[in-house]
Amino acid sequence: MDFLSPAGRYAPSPSGDLHLGNLRTALLAWLYARSSGRRFLVRVEDIDTQRSSRESAQRQLEDLAALGLDWDGEVIYQQDRYAAYEAALAQLPTYECYCSRKDIQEASRAPHAIPGQYPGTCRALSDDERAAKRAELAAQNRVPAIRLLADVSSFTIHDAFAGEYTGEVDDFILRRGGQPPADPNQGMDWAYNLAVVVDDAFQGVDQIVRGDDLLSSAPRQAYLAHQLGYPEPEFVHVPLVLNAEGVRLSKRDGAVTLRQLLEGHGRDAGDVVKLLAQSLGYEASSVQELCEQFQPEKLPREAFVWDGAV
Ligand SMILES: [Zn+2]
Repeated sequence: MDFLSPAGRYAPSPSGDLHLGNLRTALLAWLYARSSGRRFLVRVEDIDTQRSSRESAQRQLEDLAALGLDWDGEVIYQQDRYAAYEAALAQLPTYECYCSRKDIQEASRAPHAIPGQYPGTCRALSDDERAAKRAELAAQNRVPAIRLLADVSSFTIHDAFAGEYTGEVDDFILRRGGQPPADPNQGMDWAYNLAVVVDDAFQGVDQIVRGDDLLSSAPRQAYLAHQLGYPEPEFVHVPLVLNAEGVRLSKRDGAVTLRQLLEGHGRDAGDVVKLLAQSLGYEASSVQELCEQFQPEKLPREAFVWDGAV
């Protein structure tokens, strides 16, 4: 891999306009990167082709720019990266999994099963059993999923907020099975855990700042990075924005997107930056001003509860 200067990143899924919670995480990722002299990259995580659109991605990029969050180089789209995922998959120990969702649910109800964990049903099948199961799926125009053959059951990462964090690692899916795409150029159904690891390494990302709802998947991703020979990034899983009821902010909470906040209330992007700065314990009306004062070790450790006032 070519040497790339260190970078942080923000990687939204383009399935709707960015809301205050998304923007606060984007701002934090930008502040961590910029205040440490890193490049700041934006990657559009559109591997979920059903829920993603280029139009939504464009609107999200406009929202980031409206707040003054700038990025370096070209924006990368995961839908353009399938060849890289294929190449990474070829380097990993894997096996085919023929289980339906129902098979996995039933197996994980067995007496000693860990809820939600893949019980390893297809790990030790013989070649003949595999051939039979592959043919069974092929008759339904389906292909098997590809799972990682993990040689650990847990992995520990260091996170700036959570400290040492150990999470479960099972034989997680790298490429989903099911019906292959009608157009072979559309590519296979890649799993987020693989795509995110391959892309971060490709882009030279050595600092991952994102919402703490993703903390539990970080050990799997760090293990995968380790298996692929990539350096382990610095993790910063930041608290989310909660609504007045203490539940993670979402579009169901009403006027929460930047566009809604700016529509017809006499507010501008500067007011939203000011609110976000206050949520981090600062008084600032531009992101540059905030960056000059930013001290990561003094950030609030708890979630920010937003009552709807700007
Ligand atoms: Zn299976």
